[in-house]
Amino acid sequence: MSSTKPKIAFFDFAGCEGCQLTVLDALQTHTELLNAVEIVQFREAMSRSDDDYQIALIEGSYTRPSDEVRLQEIRDQAQIVVALGACAHLGGVNAVRNAHRLEEIKNYVYGEKAEVYEAASARPISDFIQVDAFIPGCPIDREEFVRAVKSLLQGNAPDIPDYPVCVECKLRETGCVFLYGKTCLGPITRAGCGAICPSFGVGCEGCRGLIPNPNMASLREVLSENGLDEMSVKAKMSLFLTNQIATSDMEA
Ligand code: SF4
Ligand code: SF4
Ligand code: SF4
Repeated sequence: MSSTKPKIAFFDFAGCEGCQLTVLDALQTHTELLNAVEIVQFREAMSRSDDDYQIALIEGSYTRPSDEVRLQEIRDQAQIVVALGACAHLGGVNAVRNAHRLEEIKNYVYGEKAEVYEAASARPISDFIQVDAFIPGCPIDREEFVRAVKSLLQGNAPDIPDYPVCVECKLRETGCVFLYGKTCLGPITRAGCGAICPSFGVGCEGCRGLIPNPNMASLREVLSENGLDEMSVKAKMSLFLTNQIATSDMEA
């Protein structure tokens, strides 16, 4: 007898597969989720590969022209498409390469085989297909993943915070890293990670993407006052925010 559970499939594009590993980790302690769905495709975890699914969770960014065809095929099949992690949501660290000429990058990486490989700017999957929800982070937060999938199964959009990481620092009474001579993108970055980096004394690098209406000018001023020159500010903001800044009228 065929299952009536919602069918879920995981897909990977360009990424380190750390978000899929986080999913595996989450499923070990949240077996209730395993009981509620039928996973029909998840290369990282199993050999089954069925193309009949309702929810597609996509890890990794678009980095090759042929990715667009595959993304469209997934979109055509799925009722709900979710961008899983910073690579899919933002283009991720892959987008650091967008600041350079593609030919230069290909020659640097592939040398004399450069012509064999196709490549394009690294972009979020939402540049190519409609995305219904995103689970941010590099990697994703395992508890947020579980909450997000449960919401989707109940027909609701995942509740992803739109306030900055600084709020979570205050809530957990973490000392601001600026006080210790470090720098941080927390004031412009979407919360939800529990301010994990500042809690270990490390500044936020922006992996969960920008909050709505971030005050870039103010943060640039603070970073400059704390010793970062213009190039260092640009470099800091390019790790995860390249595409969001490039597609807005903000300056990096
Ligand atoms: S978002 Fe980070 S952890 Fe997830 S696939 Fe990309 S690089 Fe890996
Ligand atoms: S450490 Fe970063 S996130 Fe935390 S309060 Fe300071 S600036 Fe904000
Ligand atoms: S503190 Fe910043 S870089 Fe660290 S996990 Fe949270 S959003 Fe990502």
